[in-house]
Amino acid sequence: MPPDAVTRFAPSPTGPLHLGHAYAALVAVQRAGAGQFLLRIENIDRSRCRPEWEAQIYDDLAWLGLRWQRPVMRQSERLPVYRAALQHFAAEGLIYPCRCTRADIRVALTAPQEGASLGPDGVTYPGTCRARSMSDAGPTDALRLNMSAALARLGPLSFIETGPLFAGRHLLDHDWLRDVAGDVVLARRDVGTSYHLSVVLDDAAQGITEVTRGCDLFDATPIHVVLQALLRLRTPTYYHHDLIRDESGKRLAKRDDARAIAVYRSEGLTPDALAQRFSLPMVS
Ligand code: GLU
Repeated sequence: MPPDAVTRFAPSPTGPLHLGHAYAALVAVQRAGAGQFLLRIENIDRSRCRPEWEAQIYDDLAWLGLRWQRPVMRQSERLPVYRAALQHFAAEGLIYPCRCTRADIRVALTAPQEGASLGPDGVTYPGTCRARSMSDAGPTDALRLNMSAALARLGPLSFIETGPLFAGRHLLDHDWLRDVAGDVVLARRDVGTSYHLSVVLDDAAQGITEVTRGCDLFDATPIHVVLQALLRLRTPTYYHHDLIRDESGKRLAKRDDARAIAVYRSEGLTPDALAQRFSLPMVS
């Protein structure tokens, strides 16, 4: 990696830090090399994020030997930035309010002419509210990107993957974006933003040159590249790493509490022993 590389680790404080998180953080540090490693707290979901989990993140990362710049970017402090981007999309006619519940979407998809396909956010939104206008947006509506309208504004797009799993330049497939990813949510009901919108704005604001994250998020990347193009933000390179496996080679679930770093710490394991046991990249 070049010496001016900037990478990040972006955990959500919704529970204890797990082995999978430690692996993701260590990959980001390793990819930063002589550049910068930044931390970002993804805490937009107030119903699930807790200050005590955030404190535990700092504590566990320090125990692992990681160092990062302060102050740490926290999404809860960036709502005006997300709002401004949504206003831009609204002015461009690219978003619409949606009042569909998950149950509404399920019902719409059982209609005979609608086939359900599965995108990065789950079942593809059938477009029920697409004709609604922003002037009719209610306080509890979600906001969705009109993907077809967005793609009509954009030429061919691509991103560069530097990780070994999907290495190379990936040209975006507009049909897949429209028909499978679909009209993704840019502002969740009662949250004011979404993962896709925040991650794109935050990576740009932090000057991230290479996004490192688990391969489970590979399919979200084309959505992020579309948003970057619409917001005229630079597309970083991407490094999607494998998900960590246990001693028997089985992929670890992110939410397996038995794999909390705090549990290993309480058992008296050292960071080096932990790294060795799970083949984690070492922090030098
Ligand atoms: N906050 C996300 C997570 O904990 C990471 C998102 C990303 O790296 O883009 O899975």
